[in-house]
Amino acid sequence: MRLQVEDLTYSYGEKEAADHVSLRVDAGEFVGLIGPNGSGKSTVLKNVYRGLRPDRGKITLDGEDLLSMPYRKSALKMAVVGQENEVPFDFTVEEMVAMGRTPHKRLFDVDTPRDRQIVRHALEHLGIEQLAHRNYRRLSGGEKQRVLIARAIAQESDFFVLDEPTNHLDISYQMQIFDFIKRLKVTVLSAIHDLNMAALYCDRLYVLSQGRVVIEGTPEQVLTPENIYRVYGVRSCVEKHPVTGKLSISFLPAGIGA
Ligand code: ADP
Ligand code: MG
Repeated sequence: MRLQVEDLTYSYGEKEAADHVSLRVDAGEFVGLIGPNGSGKSTVLKNVYRGLRPDRGKITLDGEDLLSMPYRKSALKMAVVGQENEVPFDFTVEEMVAMGRTPHKRLFDVDTPRDRQIVRHALEHLGIEQLAHRNYRRLSGGEKQRVLIARAIAQESDFFVLDEPTNHLDISYQMQIFDFIKRLKVTVLSAIHDLNMAALYCDRLYVLSQGRVVIEGTPEQVLTPENIYRVYGVRSCVEKHPVTGKLSISFLPAGIGA
């Protein structure tokens, strides 16, 4: 799966939230979208997963125009974990995860034994089998997040669009989820809040600031103290970690360091 976004522009009324954004995700890449709060990460992702319709610009999946694709077809091609995790009805966890199978089915098709097996595996992978019959709305933020990842996995798509997927999770689940997604060898576009997580898992990064892509490249190219200061206004110390071989970023409080 290859995603290409060209000159994507989107405004909420007067407020331009994505300003001529161009980016690409090649097959098998794990691409991160970083940038301060309000820089437009969710807006770009929503345009990609068709939660919003671009004012201008072009989005293609494997060369095919996304905006003229039937919804069901694009729903099959990408698994989405968005940021707003509320649902209006009382679904069980199992029902939520089974929704990942919906794009594969026609209206009124019943779940097959294979669907049920896929759902069970997804629950097991996320370690939430014991939650299967719980009401989704009454789960903690971290539990909800794992349910939504399980739903994405049950969809069996090879392209994941993720909006800060590990936001509510403690460090062990953060690592577990990124490790798991990495092992799936799918193509990923993910907004990531934590720069160290971005350095650990991403092949390439795009940095958004005020709706624009201001820096792009490998983590080594992007995550320099100069760039971090320019975008976040925070001083940092960036080193290659001796064990991971990836960049490791420490933020410097006022009065410490040069
Ligand atoms: P990020 O995900 O990087 O934090 P967003 O894409 O959510 O940024 O927001 C980008 C900008 O668009 C922000 O200034 C935000 O306030 C604004 N914005 C986001 N959603 C809406 C909305 N539904 N209506 C109006 N403005 C919005
Ligand atoms: Mg966001």
